[in-house]
Amino acid sequence: MIRPQPGILDIALYQGGASKIAGHAAPLKLSSNENPFGPSPMAIAAARDTITDLHRYPSTDHAPLREAIADIYGLDADRIICGVGSDEVLAWLAQAYAGPGDEVMFTEHGFSIYRIAALSVGATPVEVAETERTTDIDALIAAVTDRTRLIFVANPNNPTGTMVPLSGLERLAAALPDQCLLVIDGAYAEFVPDYDGGAALVAARDNVVMTRTFSKVYGLGGLRVGWGYGPQPVIDVLNRIRGPFNLSVTALAGAEAAVRDTGFIDACLRVNAEERARLTGGLRQLGIAVDDSHGNFVLARFADEAEADAADAHLKSAGIIVRQVKGYKIPEGLRITVGRPEDVTRVLDALATFRGVA
Ligand SMILES: *Cc1c(COP(=O)(O)O)cnc(C)c1O
Repeated sequence: MIRPQPGILDIALYQGGASKIAGHAAPLKLSSNENPFGPSPMAIAAARDTITDLHRYPSTDHAPLREAIADIYGLDADRIICGVGSDEVLAWLAQAYAGPGDEVMFTEHGFSIYRIAALSVGATPVEVAETERTTDIDALIAAVTDRTRLIFVANPNNPTGTMVPLSGLERLAAALPDQCLLVIDGAYAEFVPDYDGGAALVAARDNVVMTRTFSKVYGLGGLRVGWGYGPQPVIDVLNRIRGPFNLSVTALAGAEAAVRDTGFIDACLRVNAEERARLTGGLRQLGIAVDDSHGNFVLARFADEAEADAADAHLKSAGIIVRQVKGYKIPEGLRITVGRPEDVTRVLDALATFRGVA
């Protein structure tokens, strides 16, 4: 029987956020950090307008989308590459820079795609402890060896919601040996005021790459568009392995319109900040531990795994789907996406009943 490449059979299948509860026709889905308001109406219109052109191949260089991103984020369009979600960009990085015998590093509660990316190219995943559910820069520096090729750090991190200051990432980048790249995953960077996701660090150094996505605040998880920003030689390498037509005409048009509608995004960010504060405060009032989150979700921590399971079951009975994070080594946690104001109220009411407070 033919065998796959080494590492592939060690990959555990990615567990997505659930979207159904038996007996609930329209559950409230707070399990995948989606934008509860959906995408910009302009993105919907632009995507819909492509339907009559589906016999045409899409652009292969993605120039209009890269220029829109460069305009809005103040970046150099030549150093942007667009992928089928940022997951594809992360996979290219592993494919281009790591293989058997190489180490790919990430943190204890890091995003599960990092391990999958490492194993899928036969590299060795190396998990580094966090401190109080937060990336530990010193621990990462101490764990680097002459085999380390990639370090993936999500900042803010998912599922913890915590983040480290840019100065920590700068210190990490400056400490790396020549054969190693730092990848800053900025899936939630838009949610952090006055934070560039590491863009200036990319511009200043030759060993840092930033990844971003249209799946979170832009509300386009279903369209599958993400991007990377990196040193020109790295982007040139990734472009060699990128499929020439990786993004559809619909994805390109929808994402371009979405990135240009900054008014819509600003409004979503305002609501998220208000509702995240209300959700965090409400959980703490109920005696449920929560770290300050910098994303569009919070990680509620219960006494133990049994209590988290019971809370999850109670929320399900109320028609609310949140995310268990046992696979992220936080069995006592439930990750809850920040919804619309009425959604947050519904979650807090259900948990008050669970705690016997209401
Ligand atoms: C959601 C998420 C992504 C985005 O993945 P896409 O492939 O762009 O949908 C990347 N990194 C982290 C940490 C995430 O939570």
